[in-house]
Amino acid sequence: MIKEILADLVRIDSVSSRSNVEIVEYLEQRCEALGLITRRLPYSDELEIEKVNLIALTRDVTEVELALVGHTDTVPYDPNWSEATNLTERDGKLFGRGSCDTKGFIAAALTALENVKPNKPLALIFTADEEIGLRGAKQLAQLKPLQVRYSIVGEPTSLKPIRAGKGYSLAEVIVKGREAHSAYPALGASAVFRAARLINRLESIATELRDDQHPAFDPPYTTLNIGLINGGSAKNVLAGECRFTLEWRPIPTQPSDHLLNLFKAAIEEVTKADPGFQCEVDASRQDTGFETSPDSPLIKLLERASGKESGTVAFGTEAAQMMLLDSESVVIGPGDIREAHRTGEFVPVDELERCAEILRQSIQQLCS
Ligand SMILES: [Zn+2]
Repeated sequence: MIKEILADLVRIDSVSSRSNVEIVEYLEQRCEALGLITRRLPYSDELEIEKVNLIALTRDVTEVELALVGHTDTVPYDPNWSEATNLTERDGKLFGRGSCDTKGFIAAALTALENVKPNKPLALIFTADEEIGLRGAKQLAQLKPLQVRYSIVGEPTSLKPIRAGKGYSLAEVIVKGREAHSAYPALGASAVFRAARLINRLESIATELRDDQHPAFDPPYTTLNIGLINGGSAKNVLAGECRFTLEWRPIPTQPSDHLLNLFKAAIEEVTKADPGFQCEVDASRQDTGFETSPDSPLIKLLERASGKESGTVAFGTEAAQMMLLDSESVVIGPGDIREAHRTGEFVPVDELERCAEILRQSIQQLCS
């Protein structure tokens, strides 16, 4: 029963900082009971903790028609939240960490497979480390253990099919200056003033980016943000260094290095006016977005099954990595993204059950 599976999944603490082997063992048993063949794809994370992507297949093949994809990890929870690992039903809602992000989808996928026999090959894909930079999915995209025609990626969307998502990029910028007593500014160069000049340029770039529009998104263009800035050592010292983080969310129709190229041109201009200008850019993340045509059979099918028109999201999902496995992708799942990651996370029971039925219909139609 779907609620029991979800309760089992929530009981297993699978916060991203821990190994996910325990939840993988549980999923293996469930999948084997359904007659699926399971394959572990382990890797070590940065702290040498064992993480596993699990693939379960209806047949021993490397090409599948449909994959249902859910991440096994969750964000951390407040230790005082007693329901976090003890799924609790109240007012038609199931409370617990991961109930909507994304264990509810996993429970629905397992339940769907109990009620339908796919003819064409199907895979369940359970990933690790989604919440800390889609690392498990990136590992899969690199290894390419499967070719997938269609994939349904679980994330809380209140059962609205999502056919496109913006990418996610991050860079750390370190601007160098020369320290000096602030009474004698000519003896040094302030890294804070230098950073400010560069940030002014970035604000202009942000405005420029509005011209390249993708009407399916809200807002319909690439956005950027400088969320953190830190510089200088004392009020009466010219700052020797200033660091800031630059984050941007590119629309999927824009080349992934577009903003970085604009930024590099801005650095060159600033350097022309100030030959001593020095800065390092460490672009640590460049997650691509994804887009599936509204005319894709996958999107049409999910719009029919859910009764909702497809839409887009402005955050990153594993759908982008699934595209790298040659797949047309859609994101859908029970629960509301605004409830995810909070104390008191829940999934509505009726959405959970409807999700299992939507997935059952999808398997029936795509794999018959
Ligand atoms: Zn999630």
